[in-house]
Amino acid sequence: MRLANVASRAVLITSIGEPLTGVDVASASAGRFGPDLMGIYENWTGFRAWVDSVPSGVSSRVDRSDLGCPSPSPRQVVAIGLNYGEHARESGFATPDSLPPTFTKFVTSLAGPDVTVTLPPGGHTDWEVELVVVIGRTARAVAESAAWDHVAGLAVGQDLSERIAQLRGPAPQFSLGKSFANFAPVGPWLTTPEEVRDRNDLVLGCSIDGETVQNGRTVDLLFPVESLVSRLSHTISLLPGDLIFTGTPAGVGQGRDPQRFLQPGERLDSWIEGIGELHQTFVASPTARSVGTSHPRQES
Ligand code: ZN
Repeated sequence: MRLANVASRAVLITSIGEPLTGVDVASASAGRFGPDLMGIYENWTGFRAWVDSVPSGVSSRVDRSDLGCPSPSPRQVVAIGLNYGEHARESGFATPDSLPPTFTKFVTSLAGPDVTVTLPPGGHTDWEVELVVVIGRTARAVAESAAWDHVAGLAVGQDLSERIAQLRGPAPQFSLGKSFANFAPVGPWLTTPEEVRDRNDLVLGCSIDGETVQNGRTVDLLFPVESLVSRLSHTISLLPGDLIFTGTPAGVGQGRDPQRFLQPGERLDSWIEGIGELHQTFVASPTARSVGTSHPRQES
């Protein structure tokens, strides 16, 4: 099952080909579910049962430009760093042994799958393709064996990161450096785990103007989905609709020699096998004022 956010309405995707089509959930369920996405995650078990009971509805064409984040207003967005060994090495860190670095991407950075991103002036904006988990049932201190029961589905995410803001100061500013507007595109829709070939081993990658820069597999996650959900749930409660960015494989710009960062006019395409694609284009900030330096600007 694939559940999309189409112009802020829940839509069951019925064909992912050309044309893209879907059924409006609120219309097909006579108002029992939707149009709000977040209410659906609150009653995920009931929603799944309804979907399985053959929802009737007329498929209509879905315009990709209307797609939004499949969980548009989660209460928590958890993001995980250094969760692939090779990426930890390229970043100059030891591989974590208990729980990898955990931060947030503030909810105002969330976006749909195909958005234009304004590059923060003076910054070094980097790419990080990631598997994103959407929580479908409150998880508190759950065992790894029960973790997938708390997952509604999966999506592609980009953990766009402005490295200067992220790494400056006496302590790194992961959450702020990764939360500029549209720095968290997610989509193209939620895909339930039984739709993919192997929920624990999915090919993921991204390319800049057609040149592949990341190409990994989720089987290489140091802490796979069931481990993350279980370990996180022993500290925080994971709530329906919450998002977990699970970490990025090797190949980010910061880890290259020479380093490379996204430039105005470039196009970033990201994909995960069986889930779909994201498409970002980058533009320069209209303001010439630099905010990326480590010293406050002198004002006269
Ligand atoms: Zn990341």
